[in-house]
Amino acid sequence: MPLSLLNRLPTASLLSLLLLGACGGSDGRAGDASAASATSAKPATAASQSDPSCTAITASGSVVVGSGLPGDPAAPELASGYRTGMQAVHAKSFMVVAANPLASKAGCDVLKMGGTAADAAVAVQAVLGLVEPQSSGLGGGAFLLHYDARTGVVQTYDGRETAPAAATENHLRWIDDVNDRTAPRPSARASGRSIGTPGAVRMLELVHQEHGRKPWQSLFDAGIDLADNGFKIPGRMADAIAGARTNLQRDAEAAATYLNPDGSAKALGTVLTIPAYAQTLRAIAQGGADALYTGPIAQDIVAKINITTGADGTTPITPGKTTLADLANYRAKKRDAVCTTYRSYWVCGMGPPSSGGIAVAQTLGILENFDLGQYPPTNVDNDGGRPQAMAVHLVSEAERLAYADRDKYVADTDFQPLPGSGVPTMVDKDYLRSRAGLINLGTSMHTAQPGNLGPIPAGIMPPSPENGTTHMTIVDRDGNVVSMTTTVESGFGSYHMARGFMLNNQLTDFSAQPVDAGGLPIANRVQAGKRPRSSMAPTLVFRKAADGSRGEFMMATGSPGGSAIIQYVTKTLVSALDWNFDAQQATSMVNFGASNSPTTSIGGEHPKIDAANNGANDPLAIELRAMGHTVNVGSQSSGVGTVIRLQDRNKGMLQGGADPRREGLVLGDAFTP
Ligand code: GLU
Repeated sequence: MPLSLLNRLPTASLLSLLLLGACGGSDGRAGDASAASATSAKPATAASQSDPSCTAITASGSVVVGSGLPGDPAAPELASGYRTGMQAVHAKSFMVVAANPLASKAGCDVLKMGGTAADAAVAVQAVLGLVEPQSSGLGGGAFLLHYDARTGVVQTYDGRETAPAAATENHLRWIDDVNDRTAPRPSARASGRSIGTPGAVRMLELVHQEHGRKPWQSLFDAGIDLADNGFKIPGRMADAIAGARTNLQRDAEAAATYLNPDGSAKALGTVLTIPAYAQTLRAIAQGGADALYTGPIAQDIVAKINITTGADGTTPITPGKTTLADLANYRAKKRDAVCTTYRSYWVCGMGPPSSGGIAVAQTLGILENFDLGQYPPTNVDNDGGRPQAMAVHLVSEAERLAYADRDKYVADTDFQPLPGSGVPTMVDKDYLRSRAGLINLGTSMHTAQPGNLGPIPAGIMPPSPENGTTHMTIVDRDGNVVSMTTTVESGFGSYHMARGFMLNNQLTDFSAQPVDAGGLPIANRVQAGKRPRSSMAPTLVFRKAADGSRGEFMMATGSPGGSAIIQYVTKTLVSALDWNFDAQQATSMVNFGASNSPTTSIGGEHPKIDAANNGANDPLAIELRAMGHTVNVGSQSSGVGTVIRLQDRNKGMLQGGADPRREGLVLGDAFTP
């Protein structure tokens, strides 16, 4: 890019462009061997010459993330809708992508010292809970996929929150089943009823026990240091505080932490210390997850869930039903990965209680019956490209069919079995071919019916809107991979805070209604000890080996975004696998897709979509409308993080992309061509 053009870019775009590495000569198809070797310009790397790891590239060299020096990617900036022109970062042997630069730095430093991907995930989560508390933390839940490079084994870990033992199927809709059939106050979400027993910390402990190398207690240093000594409130967090101000005010600890004494929101760039968070991390570092699930911290969590009035002493808050026993009995679980083939790849995802893996696998299985490669995006550049209407049509229709099955059949399989023989029935190639046959190439089906997969005691529930989640993708020196999506459900969860961290509102991912309009029980209804259905879809991709079996690791990705996660992940996969986009392009690419309704979304935050006048002048929107789609051009707030392992090593081994719609950063070790 000529310097004159660089000078015209807005500062935020310019900064991100420079910081995220400038891989010269990108022709838009850098993901494979032929494209990579055609590029002669020297690729920039994730780091500099002097300190070869975990620094970010700037115009004048490299800068340590969090140093506060010019070009520091952790310097607070106004949250932007979209950072244009980001380019893929390349690294030699290890890489981390997280949604906040300080979190990426913490993970990268662990990898640099020889830690594993599992070690780094602990460090990243410890920092995210501080610098991105609206999205994830110690009081939330997570799903994690792990690939062990030595054994080739893929394992999936379930740290999903659970409903308390005392919950009934009316937990979210009525204060009391017998005496008070009114809604929890001030709302189900902002009451104690939405708070599930947290799972992220127990799950990370299990993953660390099985795949960690560094001592557990060493993994919290960055989080403790930042909580004690302060960090500057970044743009998205500042926006989230301002947006949640009146709700945060209801909780004395949250108000004292995130608001000024006059009740106003703490502003962008304010230096924040949270000593209580540092203390909690110290306790977990020393005592393991038990320090959170038993003892004084657990007592404070339970006390907060059961609070009955707001900080003003009068606003009623409906208490939850969580006890110390719920916390002490919480278990993280290992689940079977959902692995299917897609063209010349294997794709592995998270099984129930997440619907993410099955829905992505079904969508891809349906799409396999069409040649998406025939419909590549046009106007390709570093931001991906403009999708063709036929591609959006096929993907959206496939997603409608997948969401129809998801909405009907998928819930916590410990309580609600899947139909037939389970996952194999739902991702069966013949079944998905018959589903593909329902797609009309000229007109949208608007709303799909679920497939007839045999009797299950379930009705259909509509998806719920969500927004408090984040994703990290990590590859270590040995080639082990972590893809982890972690959440407090909505921004700042339930607005209840204890011991320096926010408590989730994950139970609102259950259906509040236990039965559907026809009186049939809903698969995802609340039950004691059950885990609410999720859409989180951490994903791993492998190349098919010559004999058709799962071969070498190729790609890891995932995203926040509520039920749209399935669409964000599918878009990223299709962009990389069908259209050969590099890790950044696939991540930056226009978000598009549909859940099971007539509405098809094309992300209006993307520079290639003309969102003015509801997309009236956007060529893609016009074409889709002609095919019967109800087009929504609203902004899509994905947070994709992608790493691709290159076959051609001219650019290094790993290529990473962070979502231009959030504040994420890719860091790794230097690659010197
Ligand atoms: N709670 C949601 C889920 O588990 C994720 C929410 C979000 O992405 O914001 O599916």
